[in-house]
Amino acid sequence: MSALAEKLYTIRYKVDEQSHLVIKDQETCLHCRTKECQDFCPAEVYHWDEKDKMTNVAFENCIECGTCRIGCPAHNIEWVYPKGGHGITYKFG
Ligand code: SF4
Ligand code: SF4
Repeated sequence: MSALAEKLYTIRYKVDEQSHLVIKDQETCLHCRTKECQDFCPAEVYHWDEKDKMTNVAFENCIECGTCRIGCPAHNIEWVYPKGGHGITYKFG
């Protein structure tokens, strides 16, 4: 198991039904040439769908690192912590 996979294994998820991550404007993503959200997110939450021309958001996988608050060059991602009682916790030991 890779070091990243080992770290991800220590996380427990309690997924909310509503996403805490929102793409503000899909049109902006359409014209974004770099689409670096696909690279900077360690949990592979963002995926550009070439067929539907939109950024898909697998918010269930988010590990709340906060990178996408500053990582999108167009500031096109709205990020808040999941509602109380939802989100991730870490297993130790
Ligand atoms: S980096 Fe930002 S603007 Fe570009 S595709 Fe991702 S969310 Fe959209
Ligand atoms: S907070 Fe971190 S893990 Fe969650 S979507 Fe943003 S970059 Fe990915």
